[in-house]
Amino acid sequence: MELIERLVSPEIRALSAYHVPPAKGMVKLDAMENPYSLPEALRQEWLTKLGQVEINRYPDSGACELKSKLREVFDIPDNLGLILGNGSDELIQMVASLVGGPGRMFLTPSPSFSMYEIISLTTSTGFKSVSLNNDFSPNRSEFLKELENTNPACIFIAYPNNPTGNSFDRIFIEEIISTAPGLVVIDEAYFSFSGKSFLQQIDQFSHVLVMRTLSKSGLAGLRLGMMMGHPEWIEQLEKIRLPYNINCLTQASVEFCLDHFSIFSDQAAQIITDRMWLAEHLQKLTGLTVFPSETNFILVRLDRDADQVFESLKHQGILVKNLHRPDTLLENCLRVTVGTPQQNLKLVNELGHCLR
Ligand SMILES: *Cc1c(COP(=O)(O)O)cnc(C)c1O
Repeated sequence: MELIERLVSPEIRALSAYHVPPAKGMVKLDAMENPYSLPEALRQEWLTKLGQVEINRYPDSGACELKSKLREVFDIPDNLGLILGNGSDELIQMVASLVGGPGRMFLTPSPSFSMYEIISLTTSTGFKSVSLNNDFSPNRSEFLKELENTNPACIFIAYPNNPTGNSFDRIFIEEIISTAPGLVVIDEAYFSFSGKSFLQQIDQFSHVLVMRTLSKSGLAGLRLGMMMGHPEWIEQLEKIRLPYNINCLTQASVEFCLDHFSIFSDQAAQIITDRMWLAEHLQKLTGLTVFPSETNFILVRLDRDADQVFESLKHQGILVKNLHRPDTLLENCLRVTVGTPQQNLKLVNELGHCLR
């Protein structure tokens, strides 16, 4: 395909499309989904509400009602702007369209959330990452050095970090905020499990954006992410946002769920309890290291070939995320999402078999 070679940049030709493994019939512990669904009685009420949605009309472009409910439930300060994305992935893309592009740089610790790099590549934005220390804490001096060298248009900090599960020291992040020459995005995708946030203090800084998502809290299928920050930055992002990016079924569904949000907070509390159970029982197995987590997943490092263990788990019907790359910080690492108590027990048992 000569035309592709001529028209598509080498960077994009070198990429492969984001791979999502088939998971039908599997115990799905690979993607940080909430294992619980809406209680049956509410499900009926939700369907009734969806039945009234006018699908022949475009959705409310500004998602006004949804936004006002989000502000209330997530205690978003009135003096901050709010923009919604079709997942937080889309918000990262909007930031890249706004301040990325040729000649611009994005900076992030590594390993971190893969979309920061993928979106940099697909928007021709330069990308630099700074390796974390062996214990997954940030390398402060290296990071500050790269910050000066690269002069990044945007720094992405996942707080807590994916795939390592830890939250970086607040003082480190505050130092980044005060030295950054461009934007700083604090990605709080796991806020429901960490309880830690910068949302209440970013109004002191006009260049800091906080991002959240409902994906990890039980609504991954709806695709809703939100970004909060100085109203003037949000106003610029609004120019990039496609007019109807949040479809009417998502708007109606999320509004409904926000009216019953205690269900989701209760589920998060349950998942935190189960995470502690899972960490404790994984720790009892020999042949692996369990890393501390403030999220709904746990990172483990095996003392043997993680590819093999990943395949055996898959064979037993359990899908986890294989992060193994030789000679990196993630060597022989697997990331497991906290599931239901039964799923967690099955995982511990099968992993125990693999490691015997
Ligand atoms: C899962 C995840 C996201 C993606 O969220 P979506 O709203 O589903 O696009 C963003 N950031 C981090 C750090 C994540 O782990």
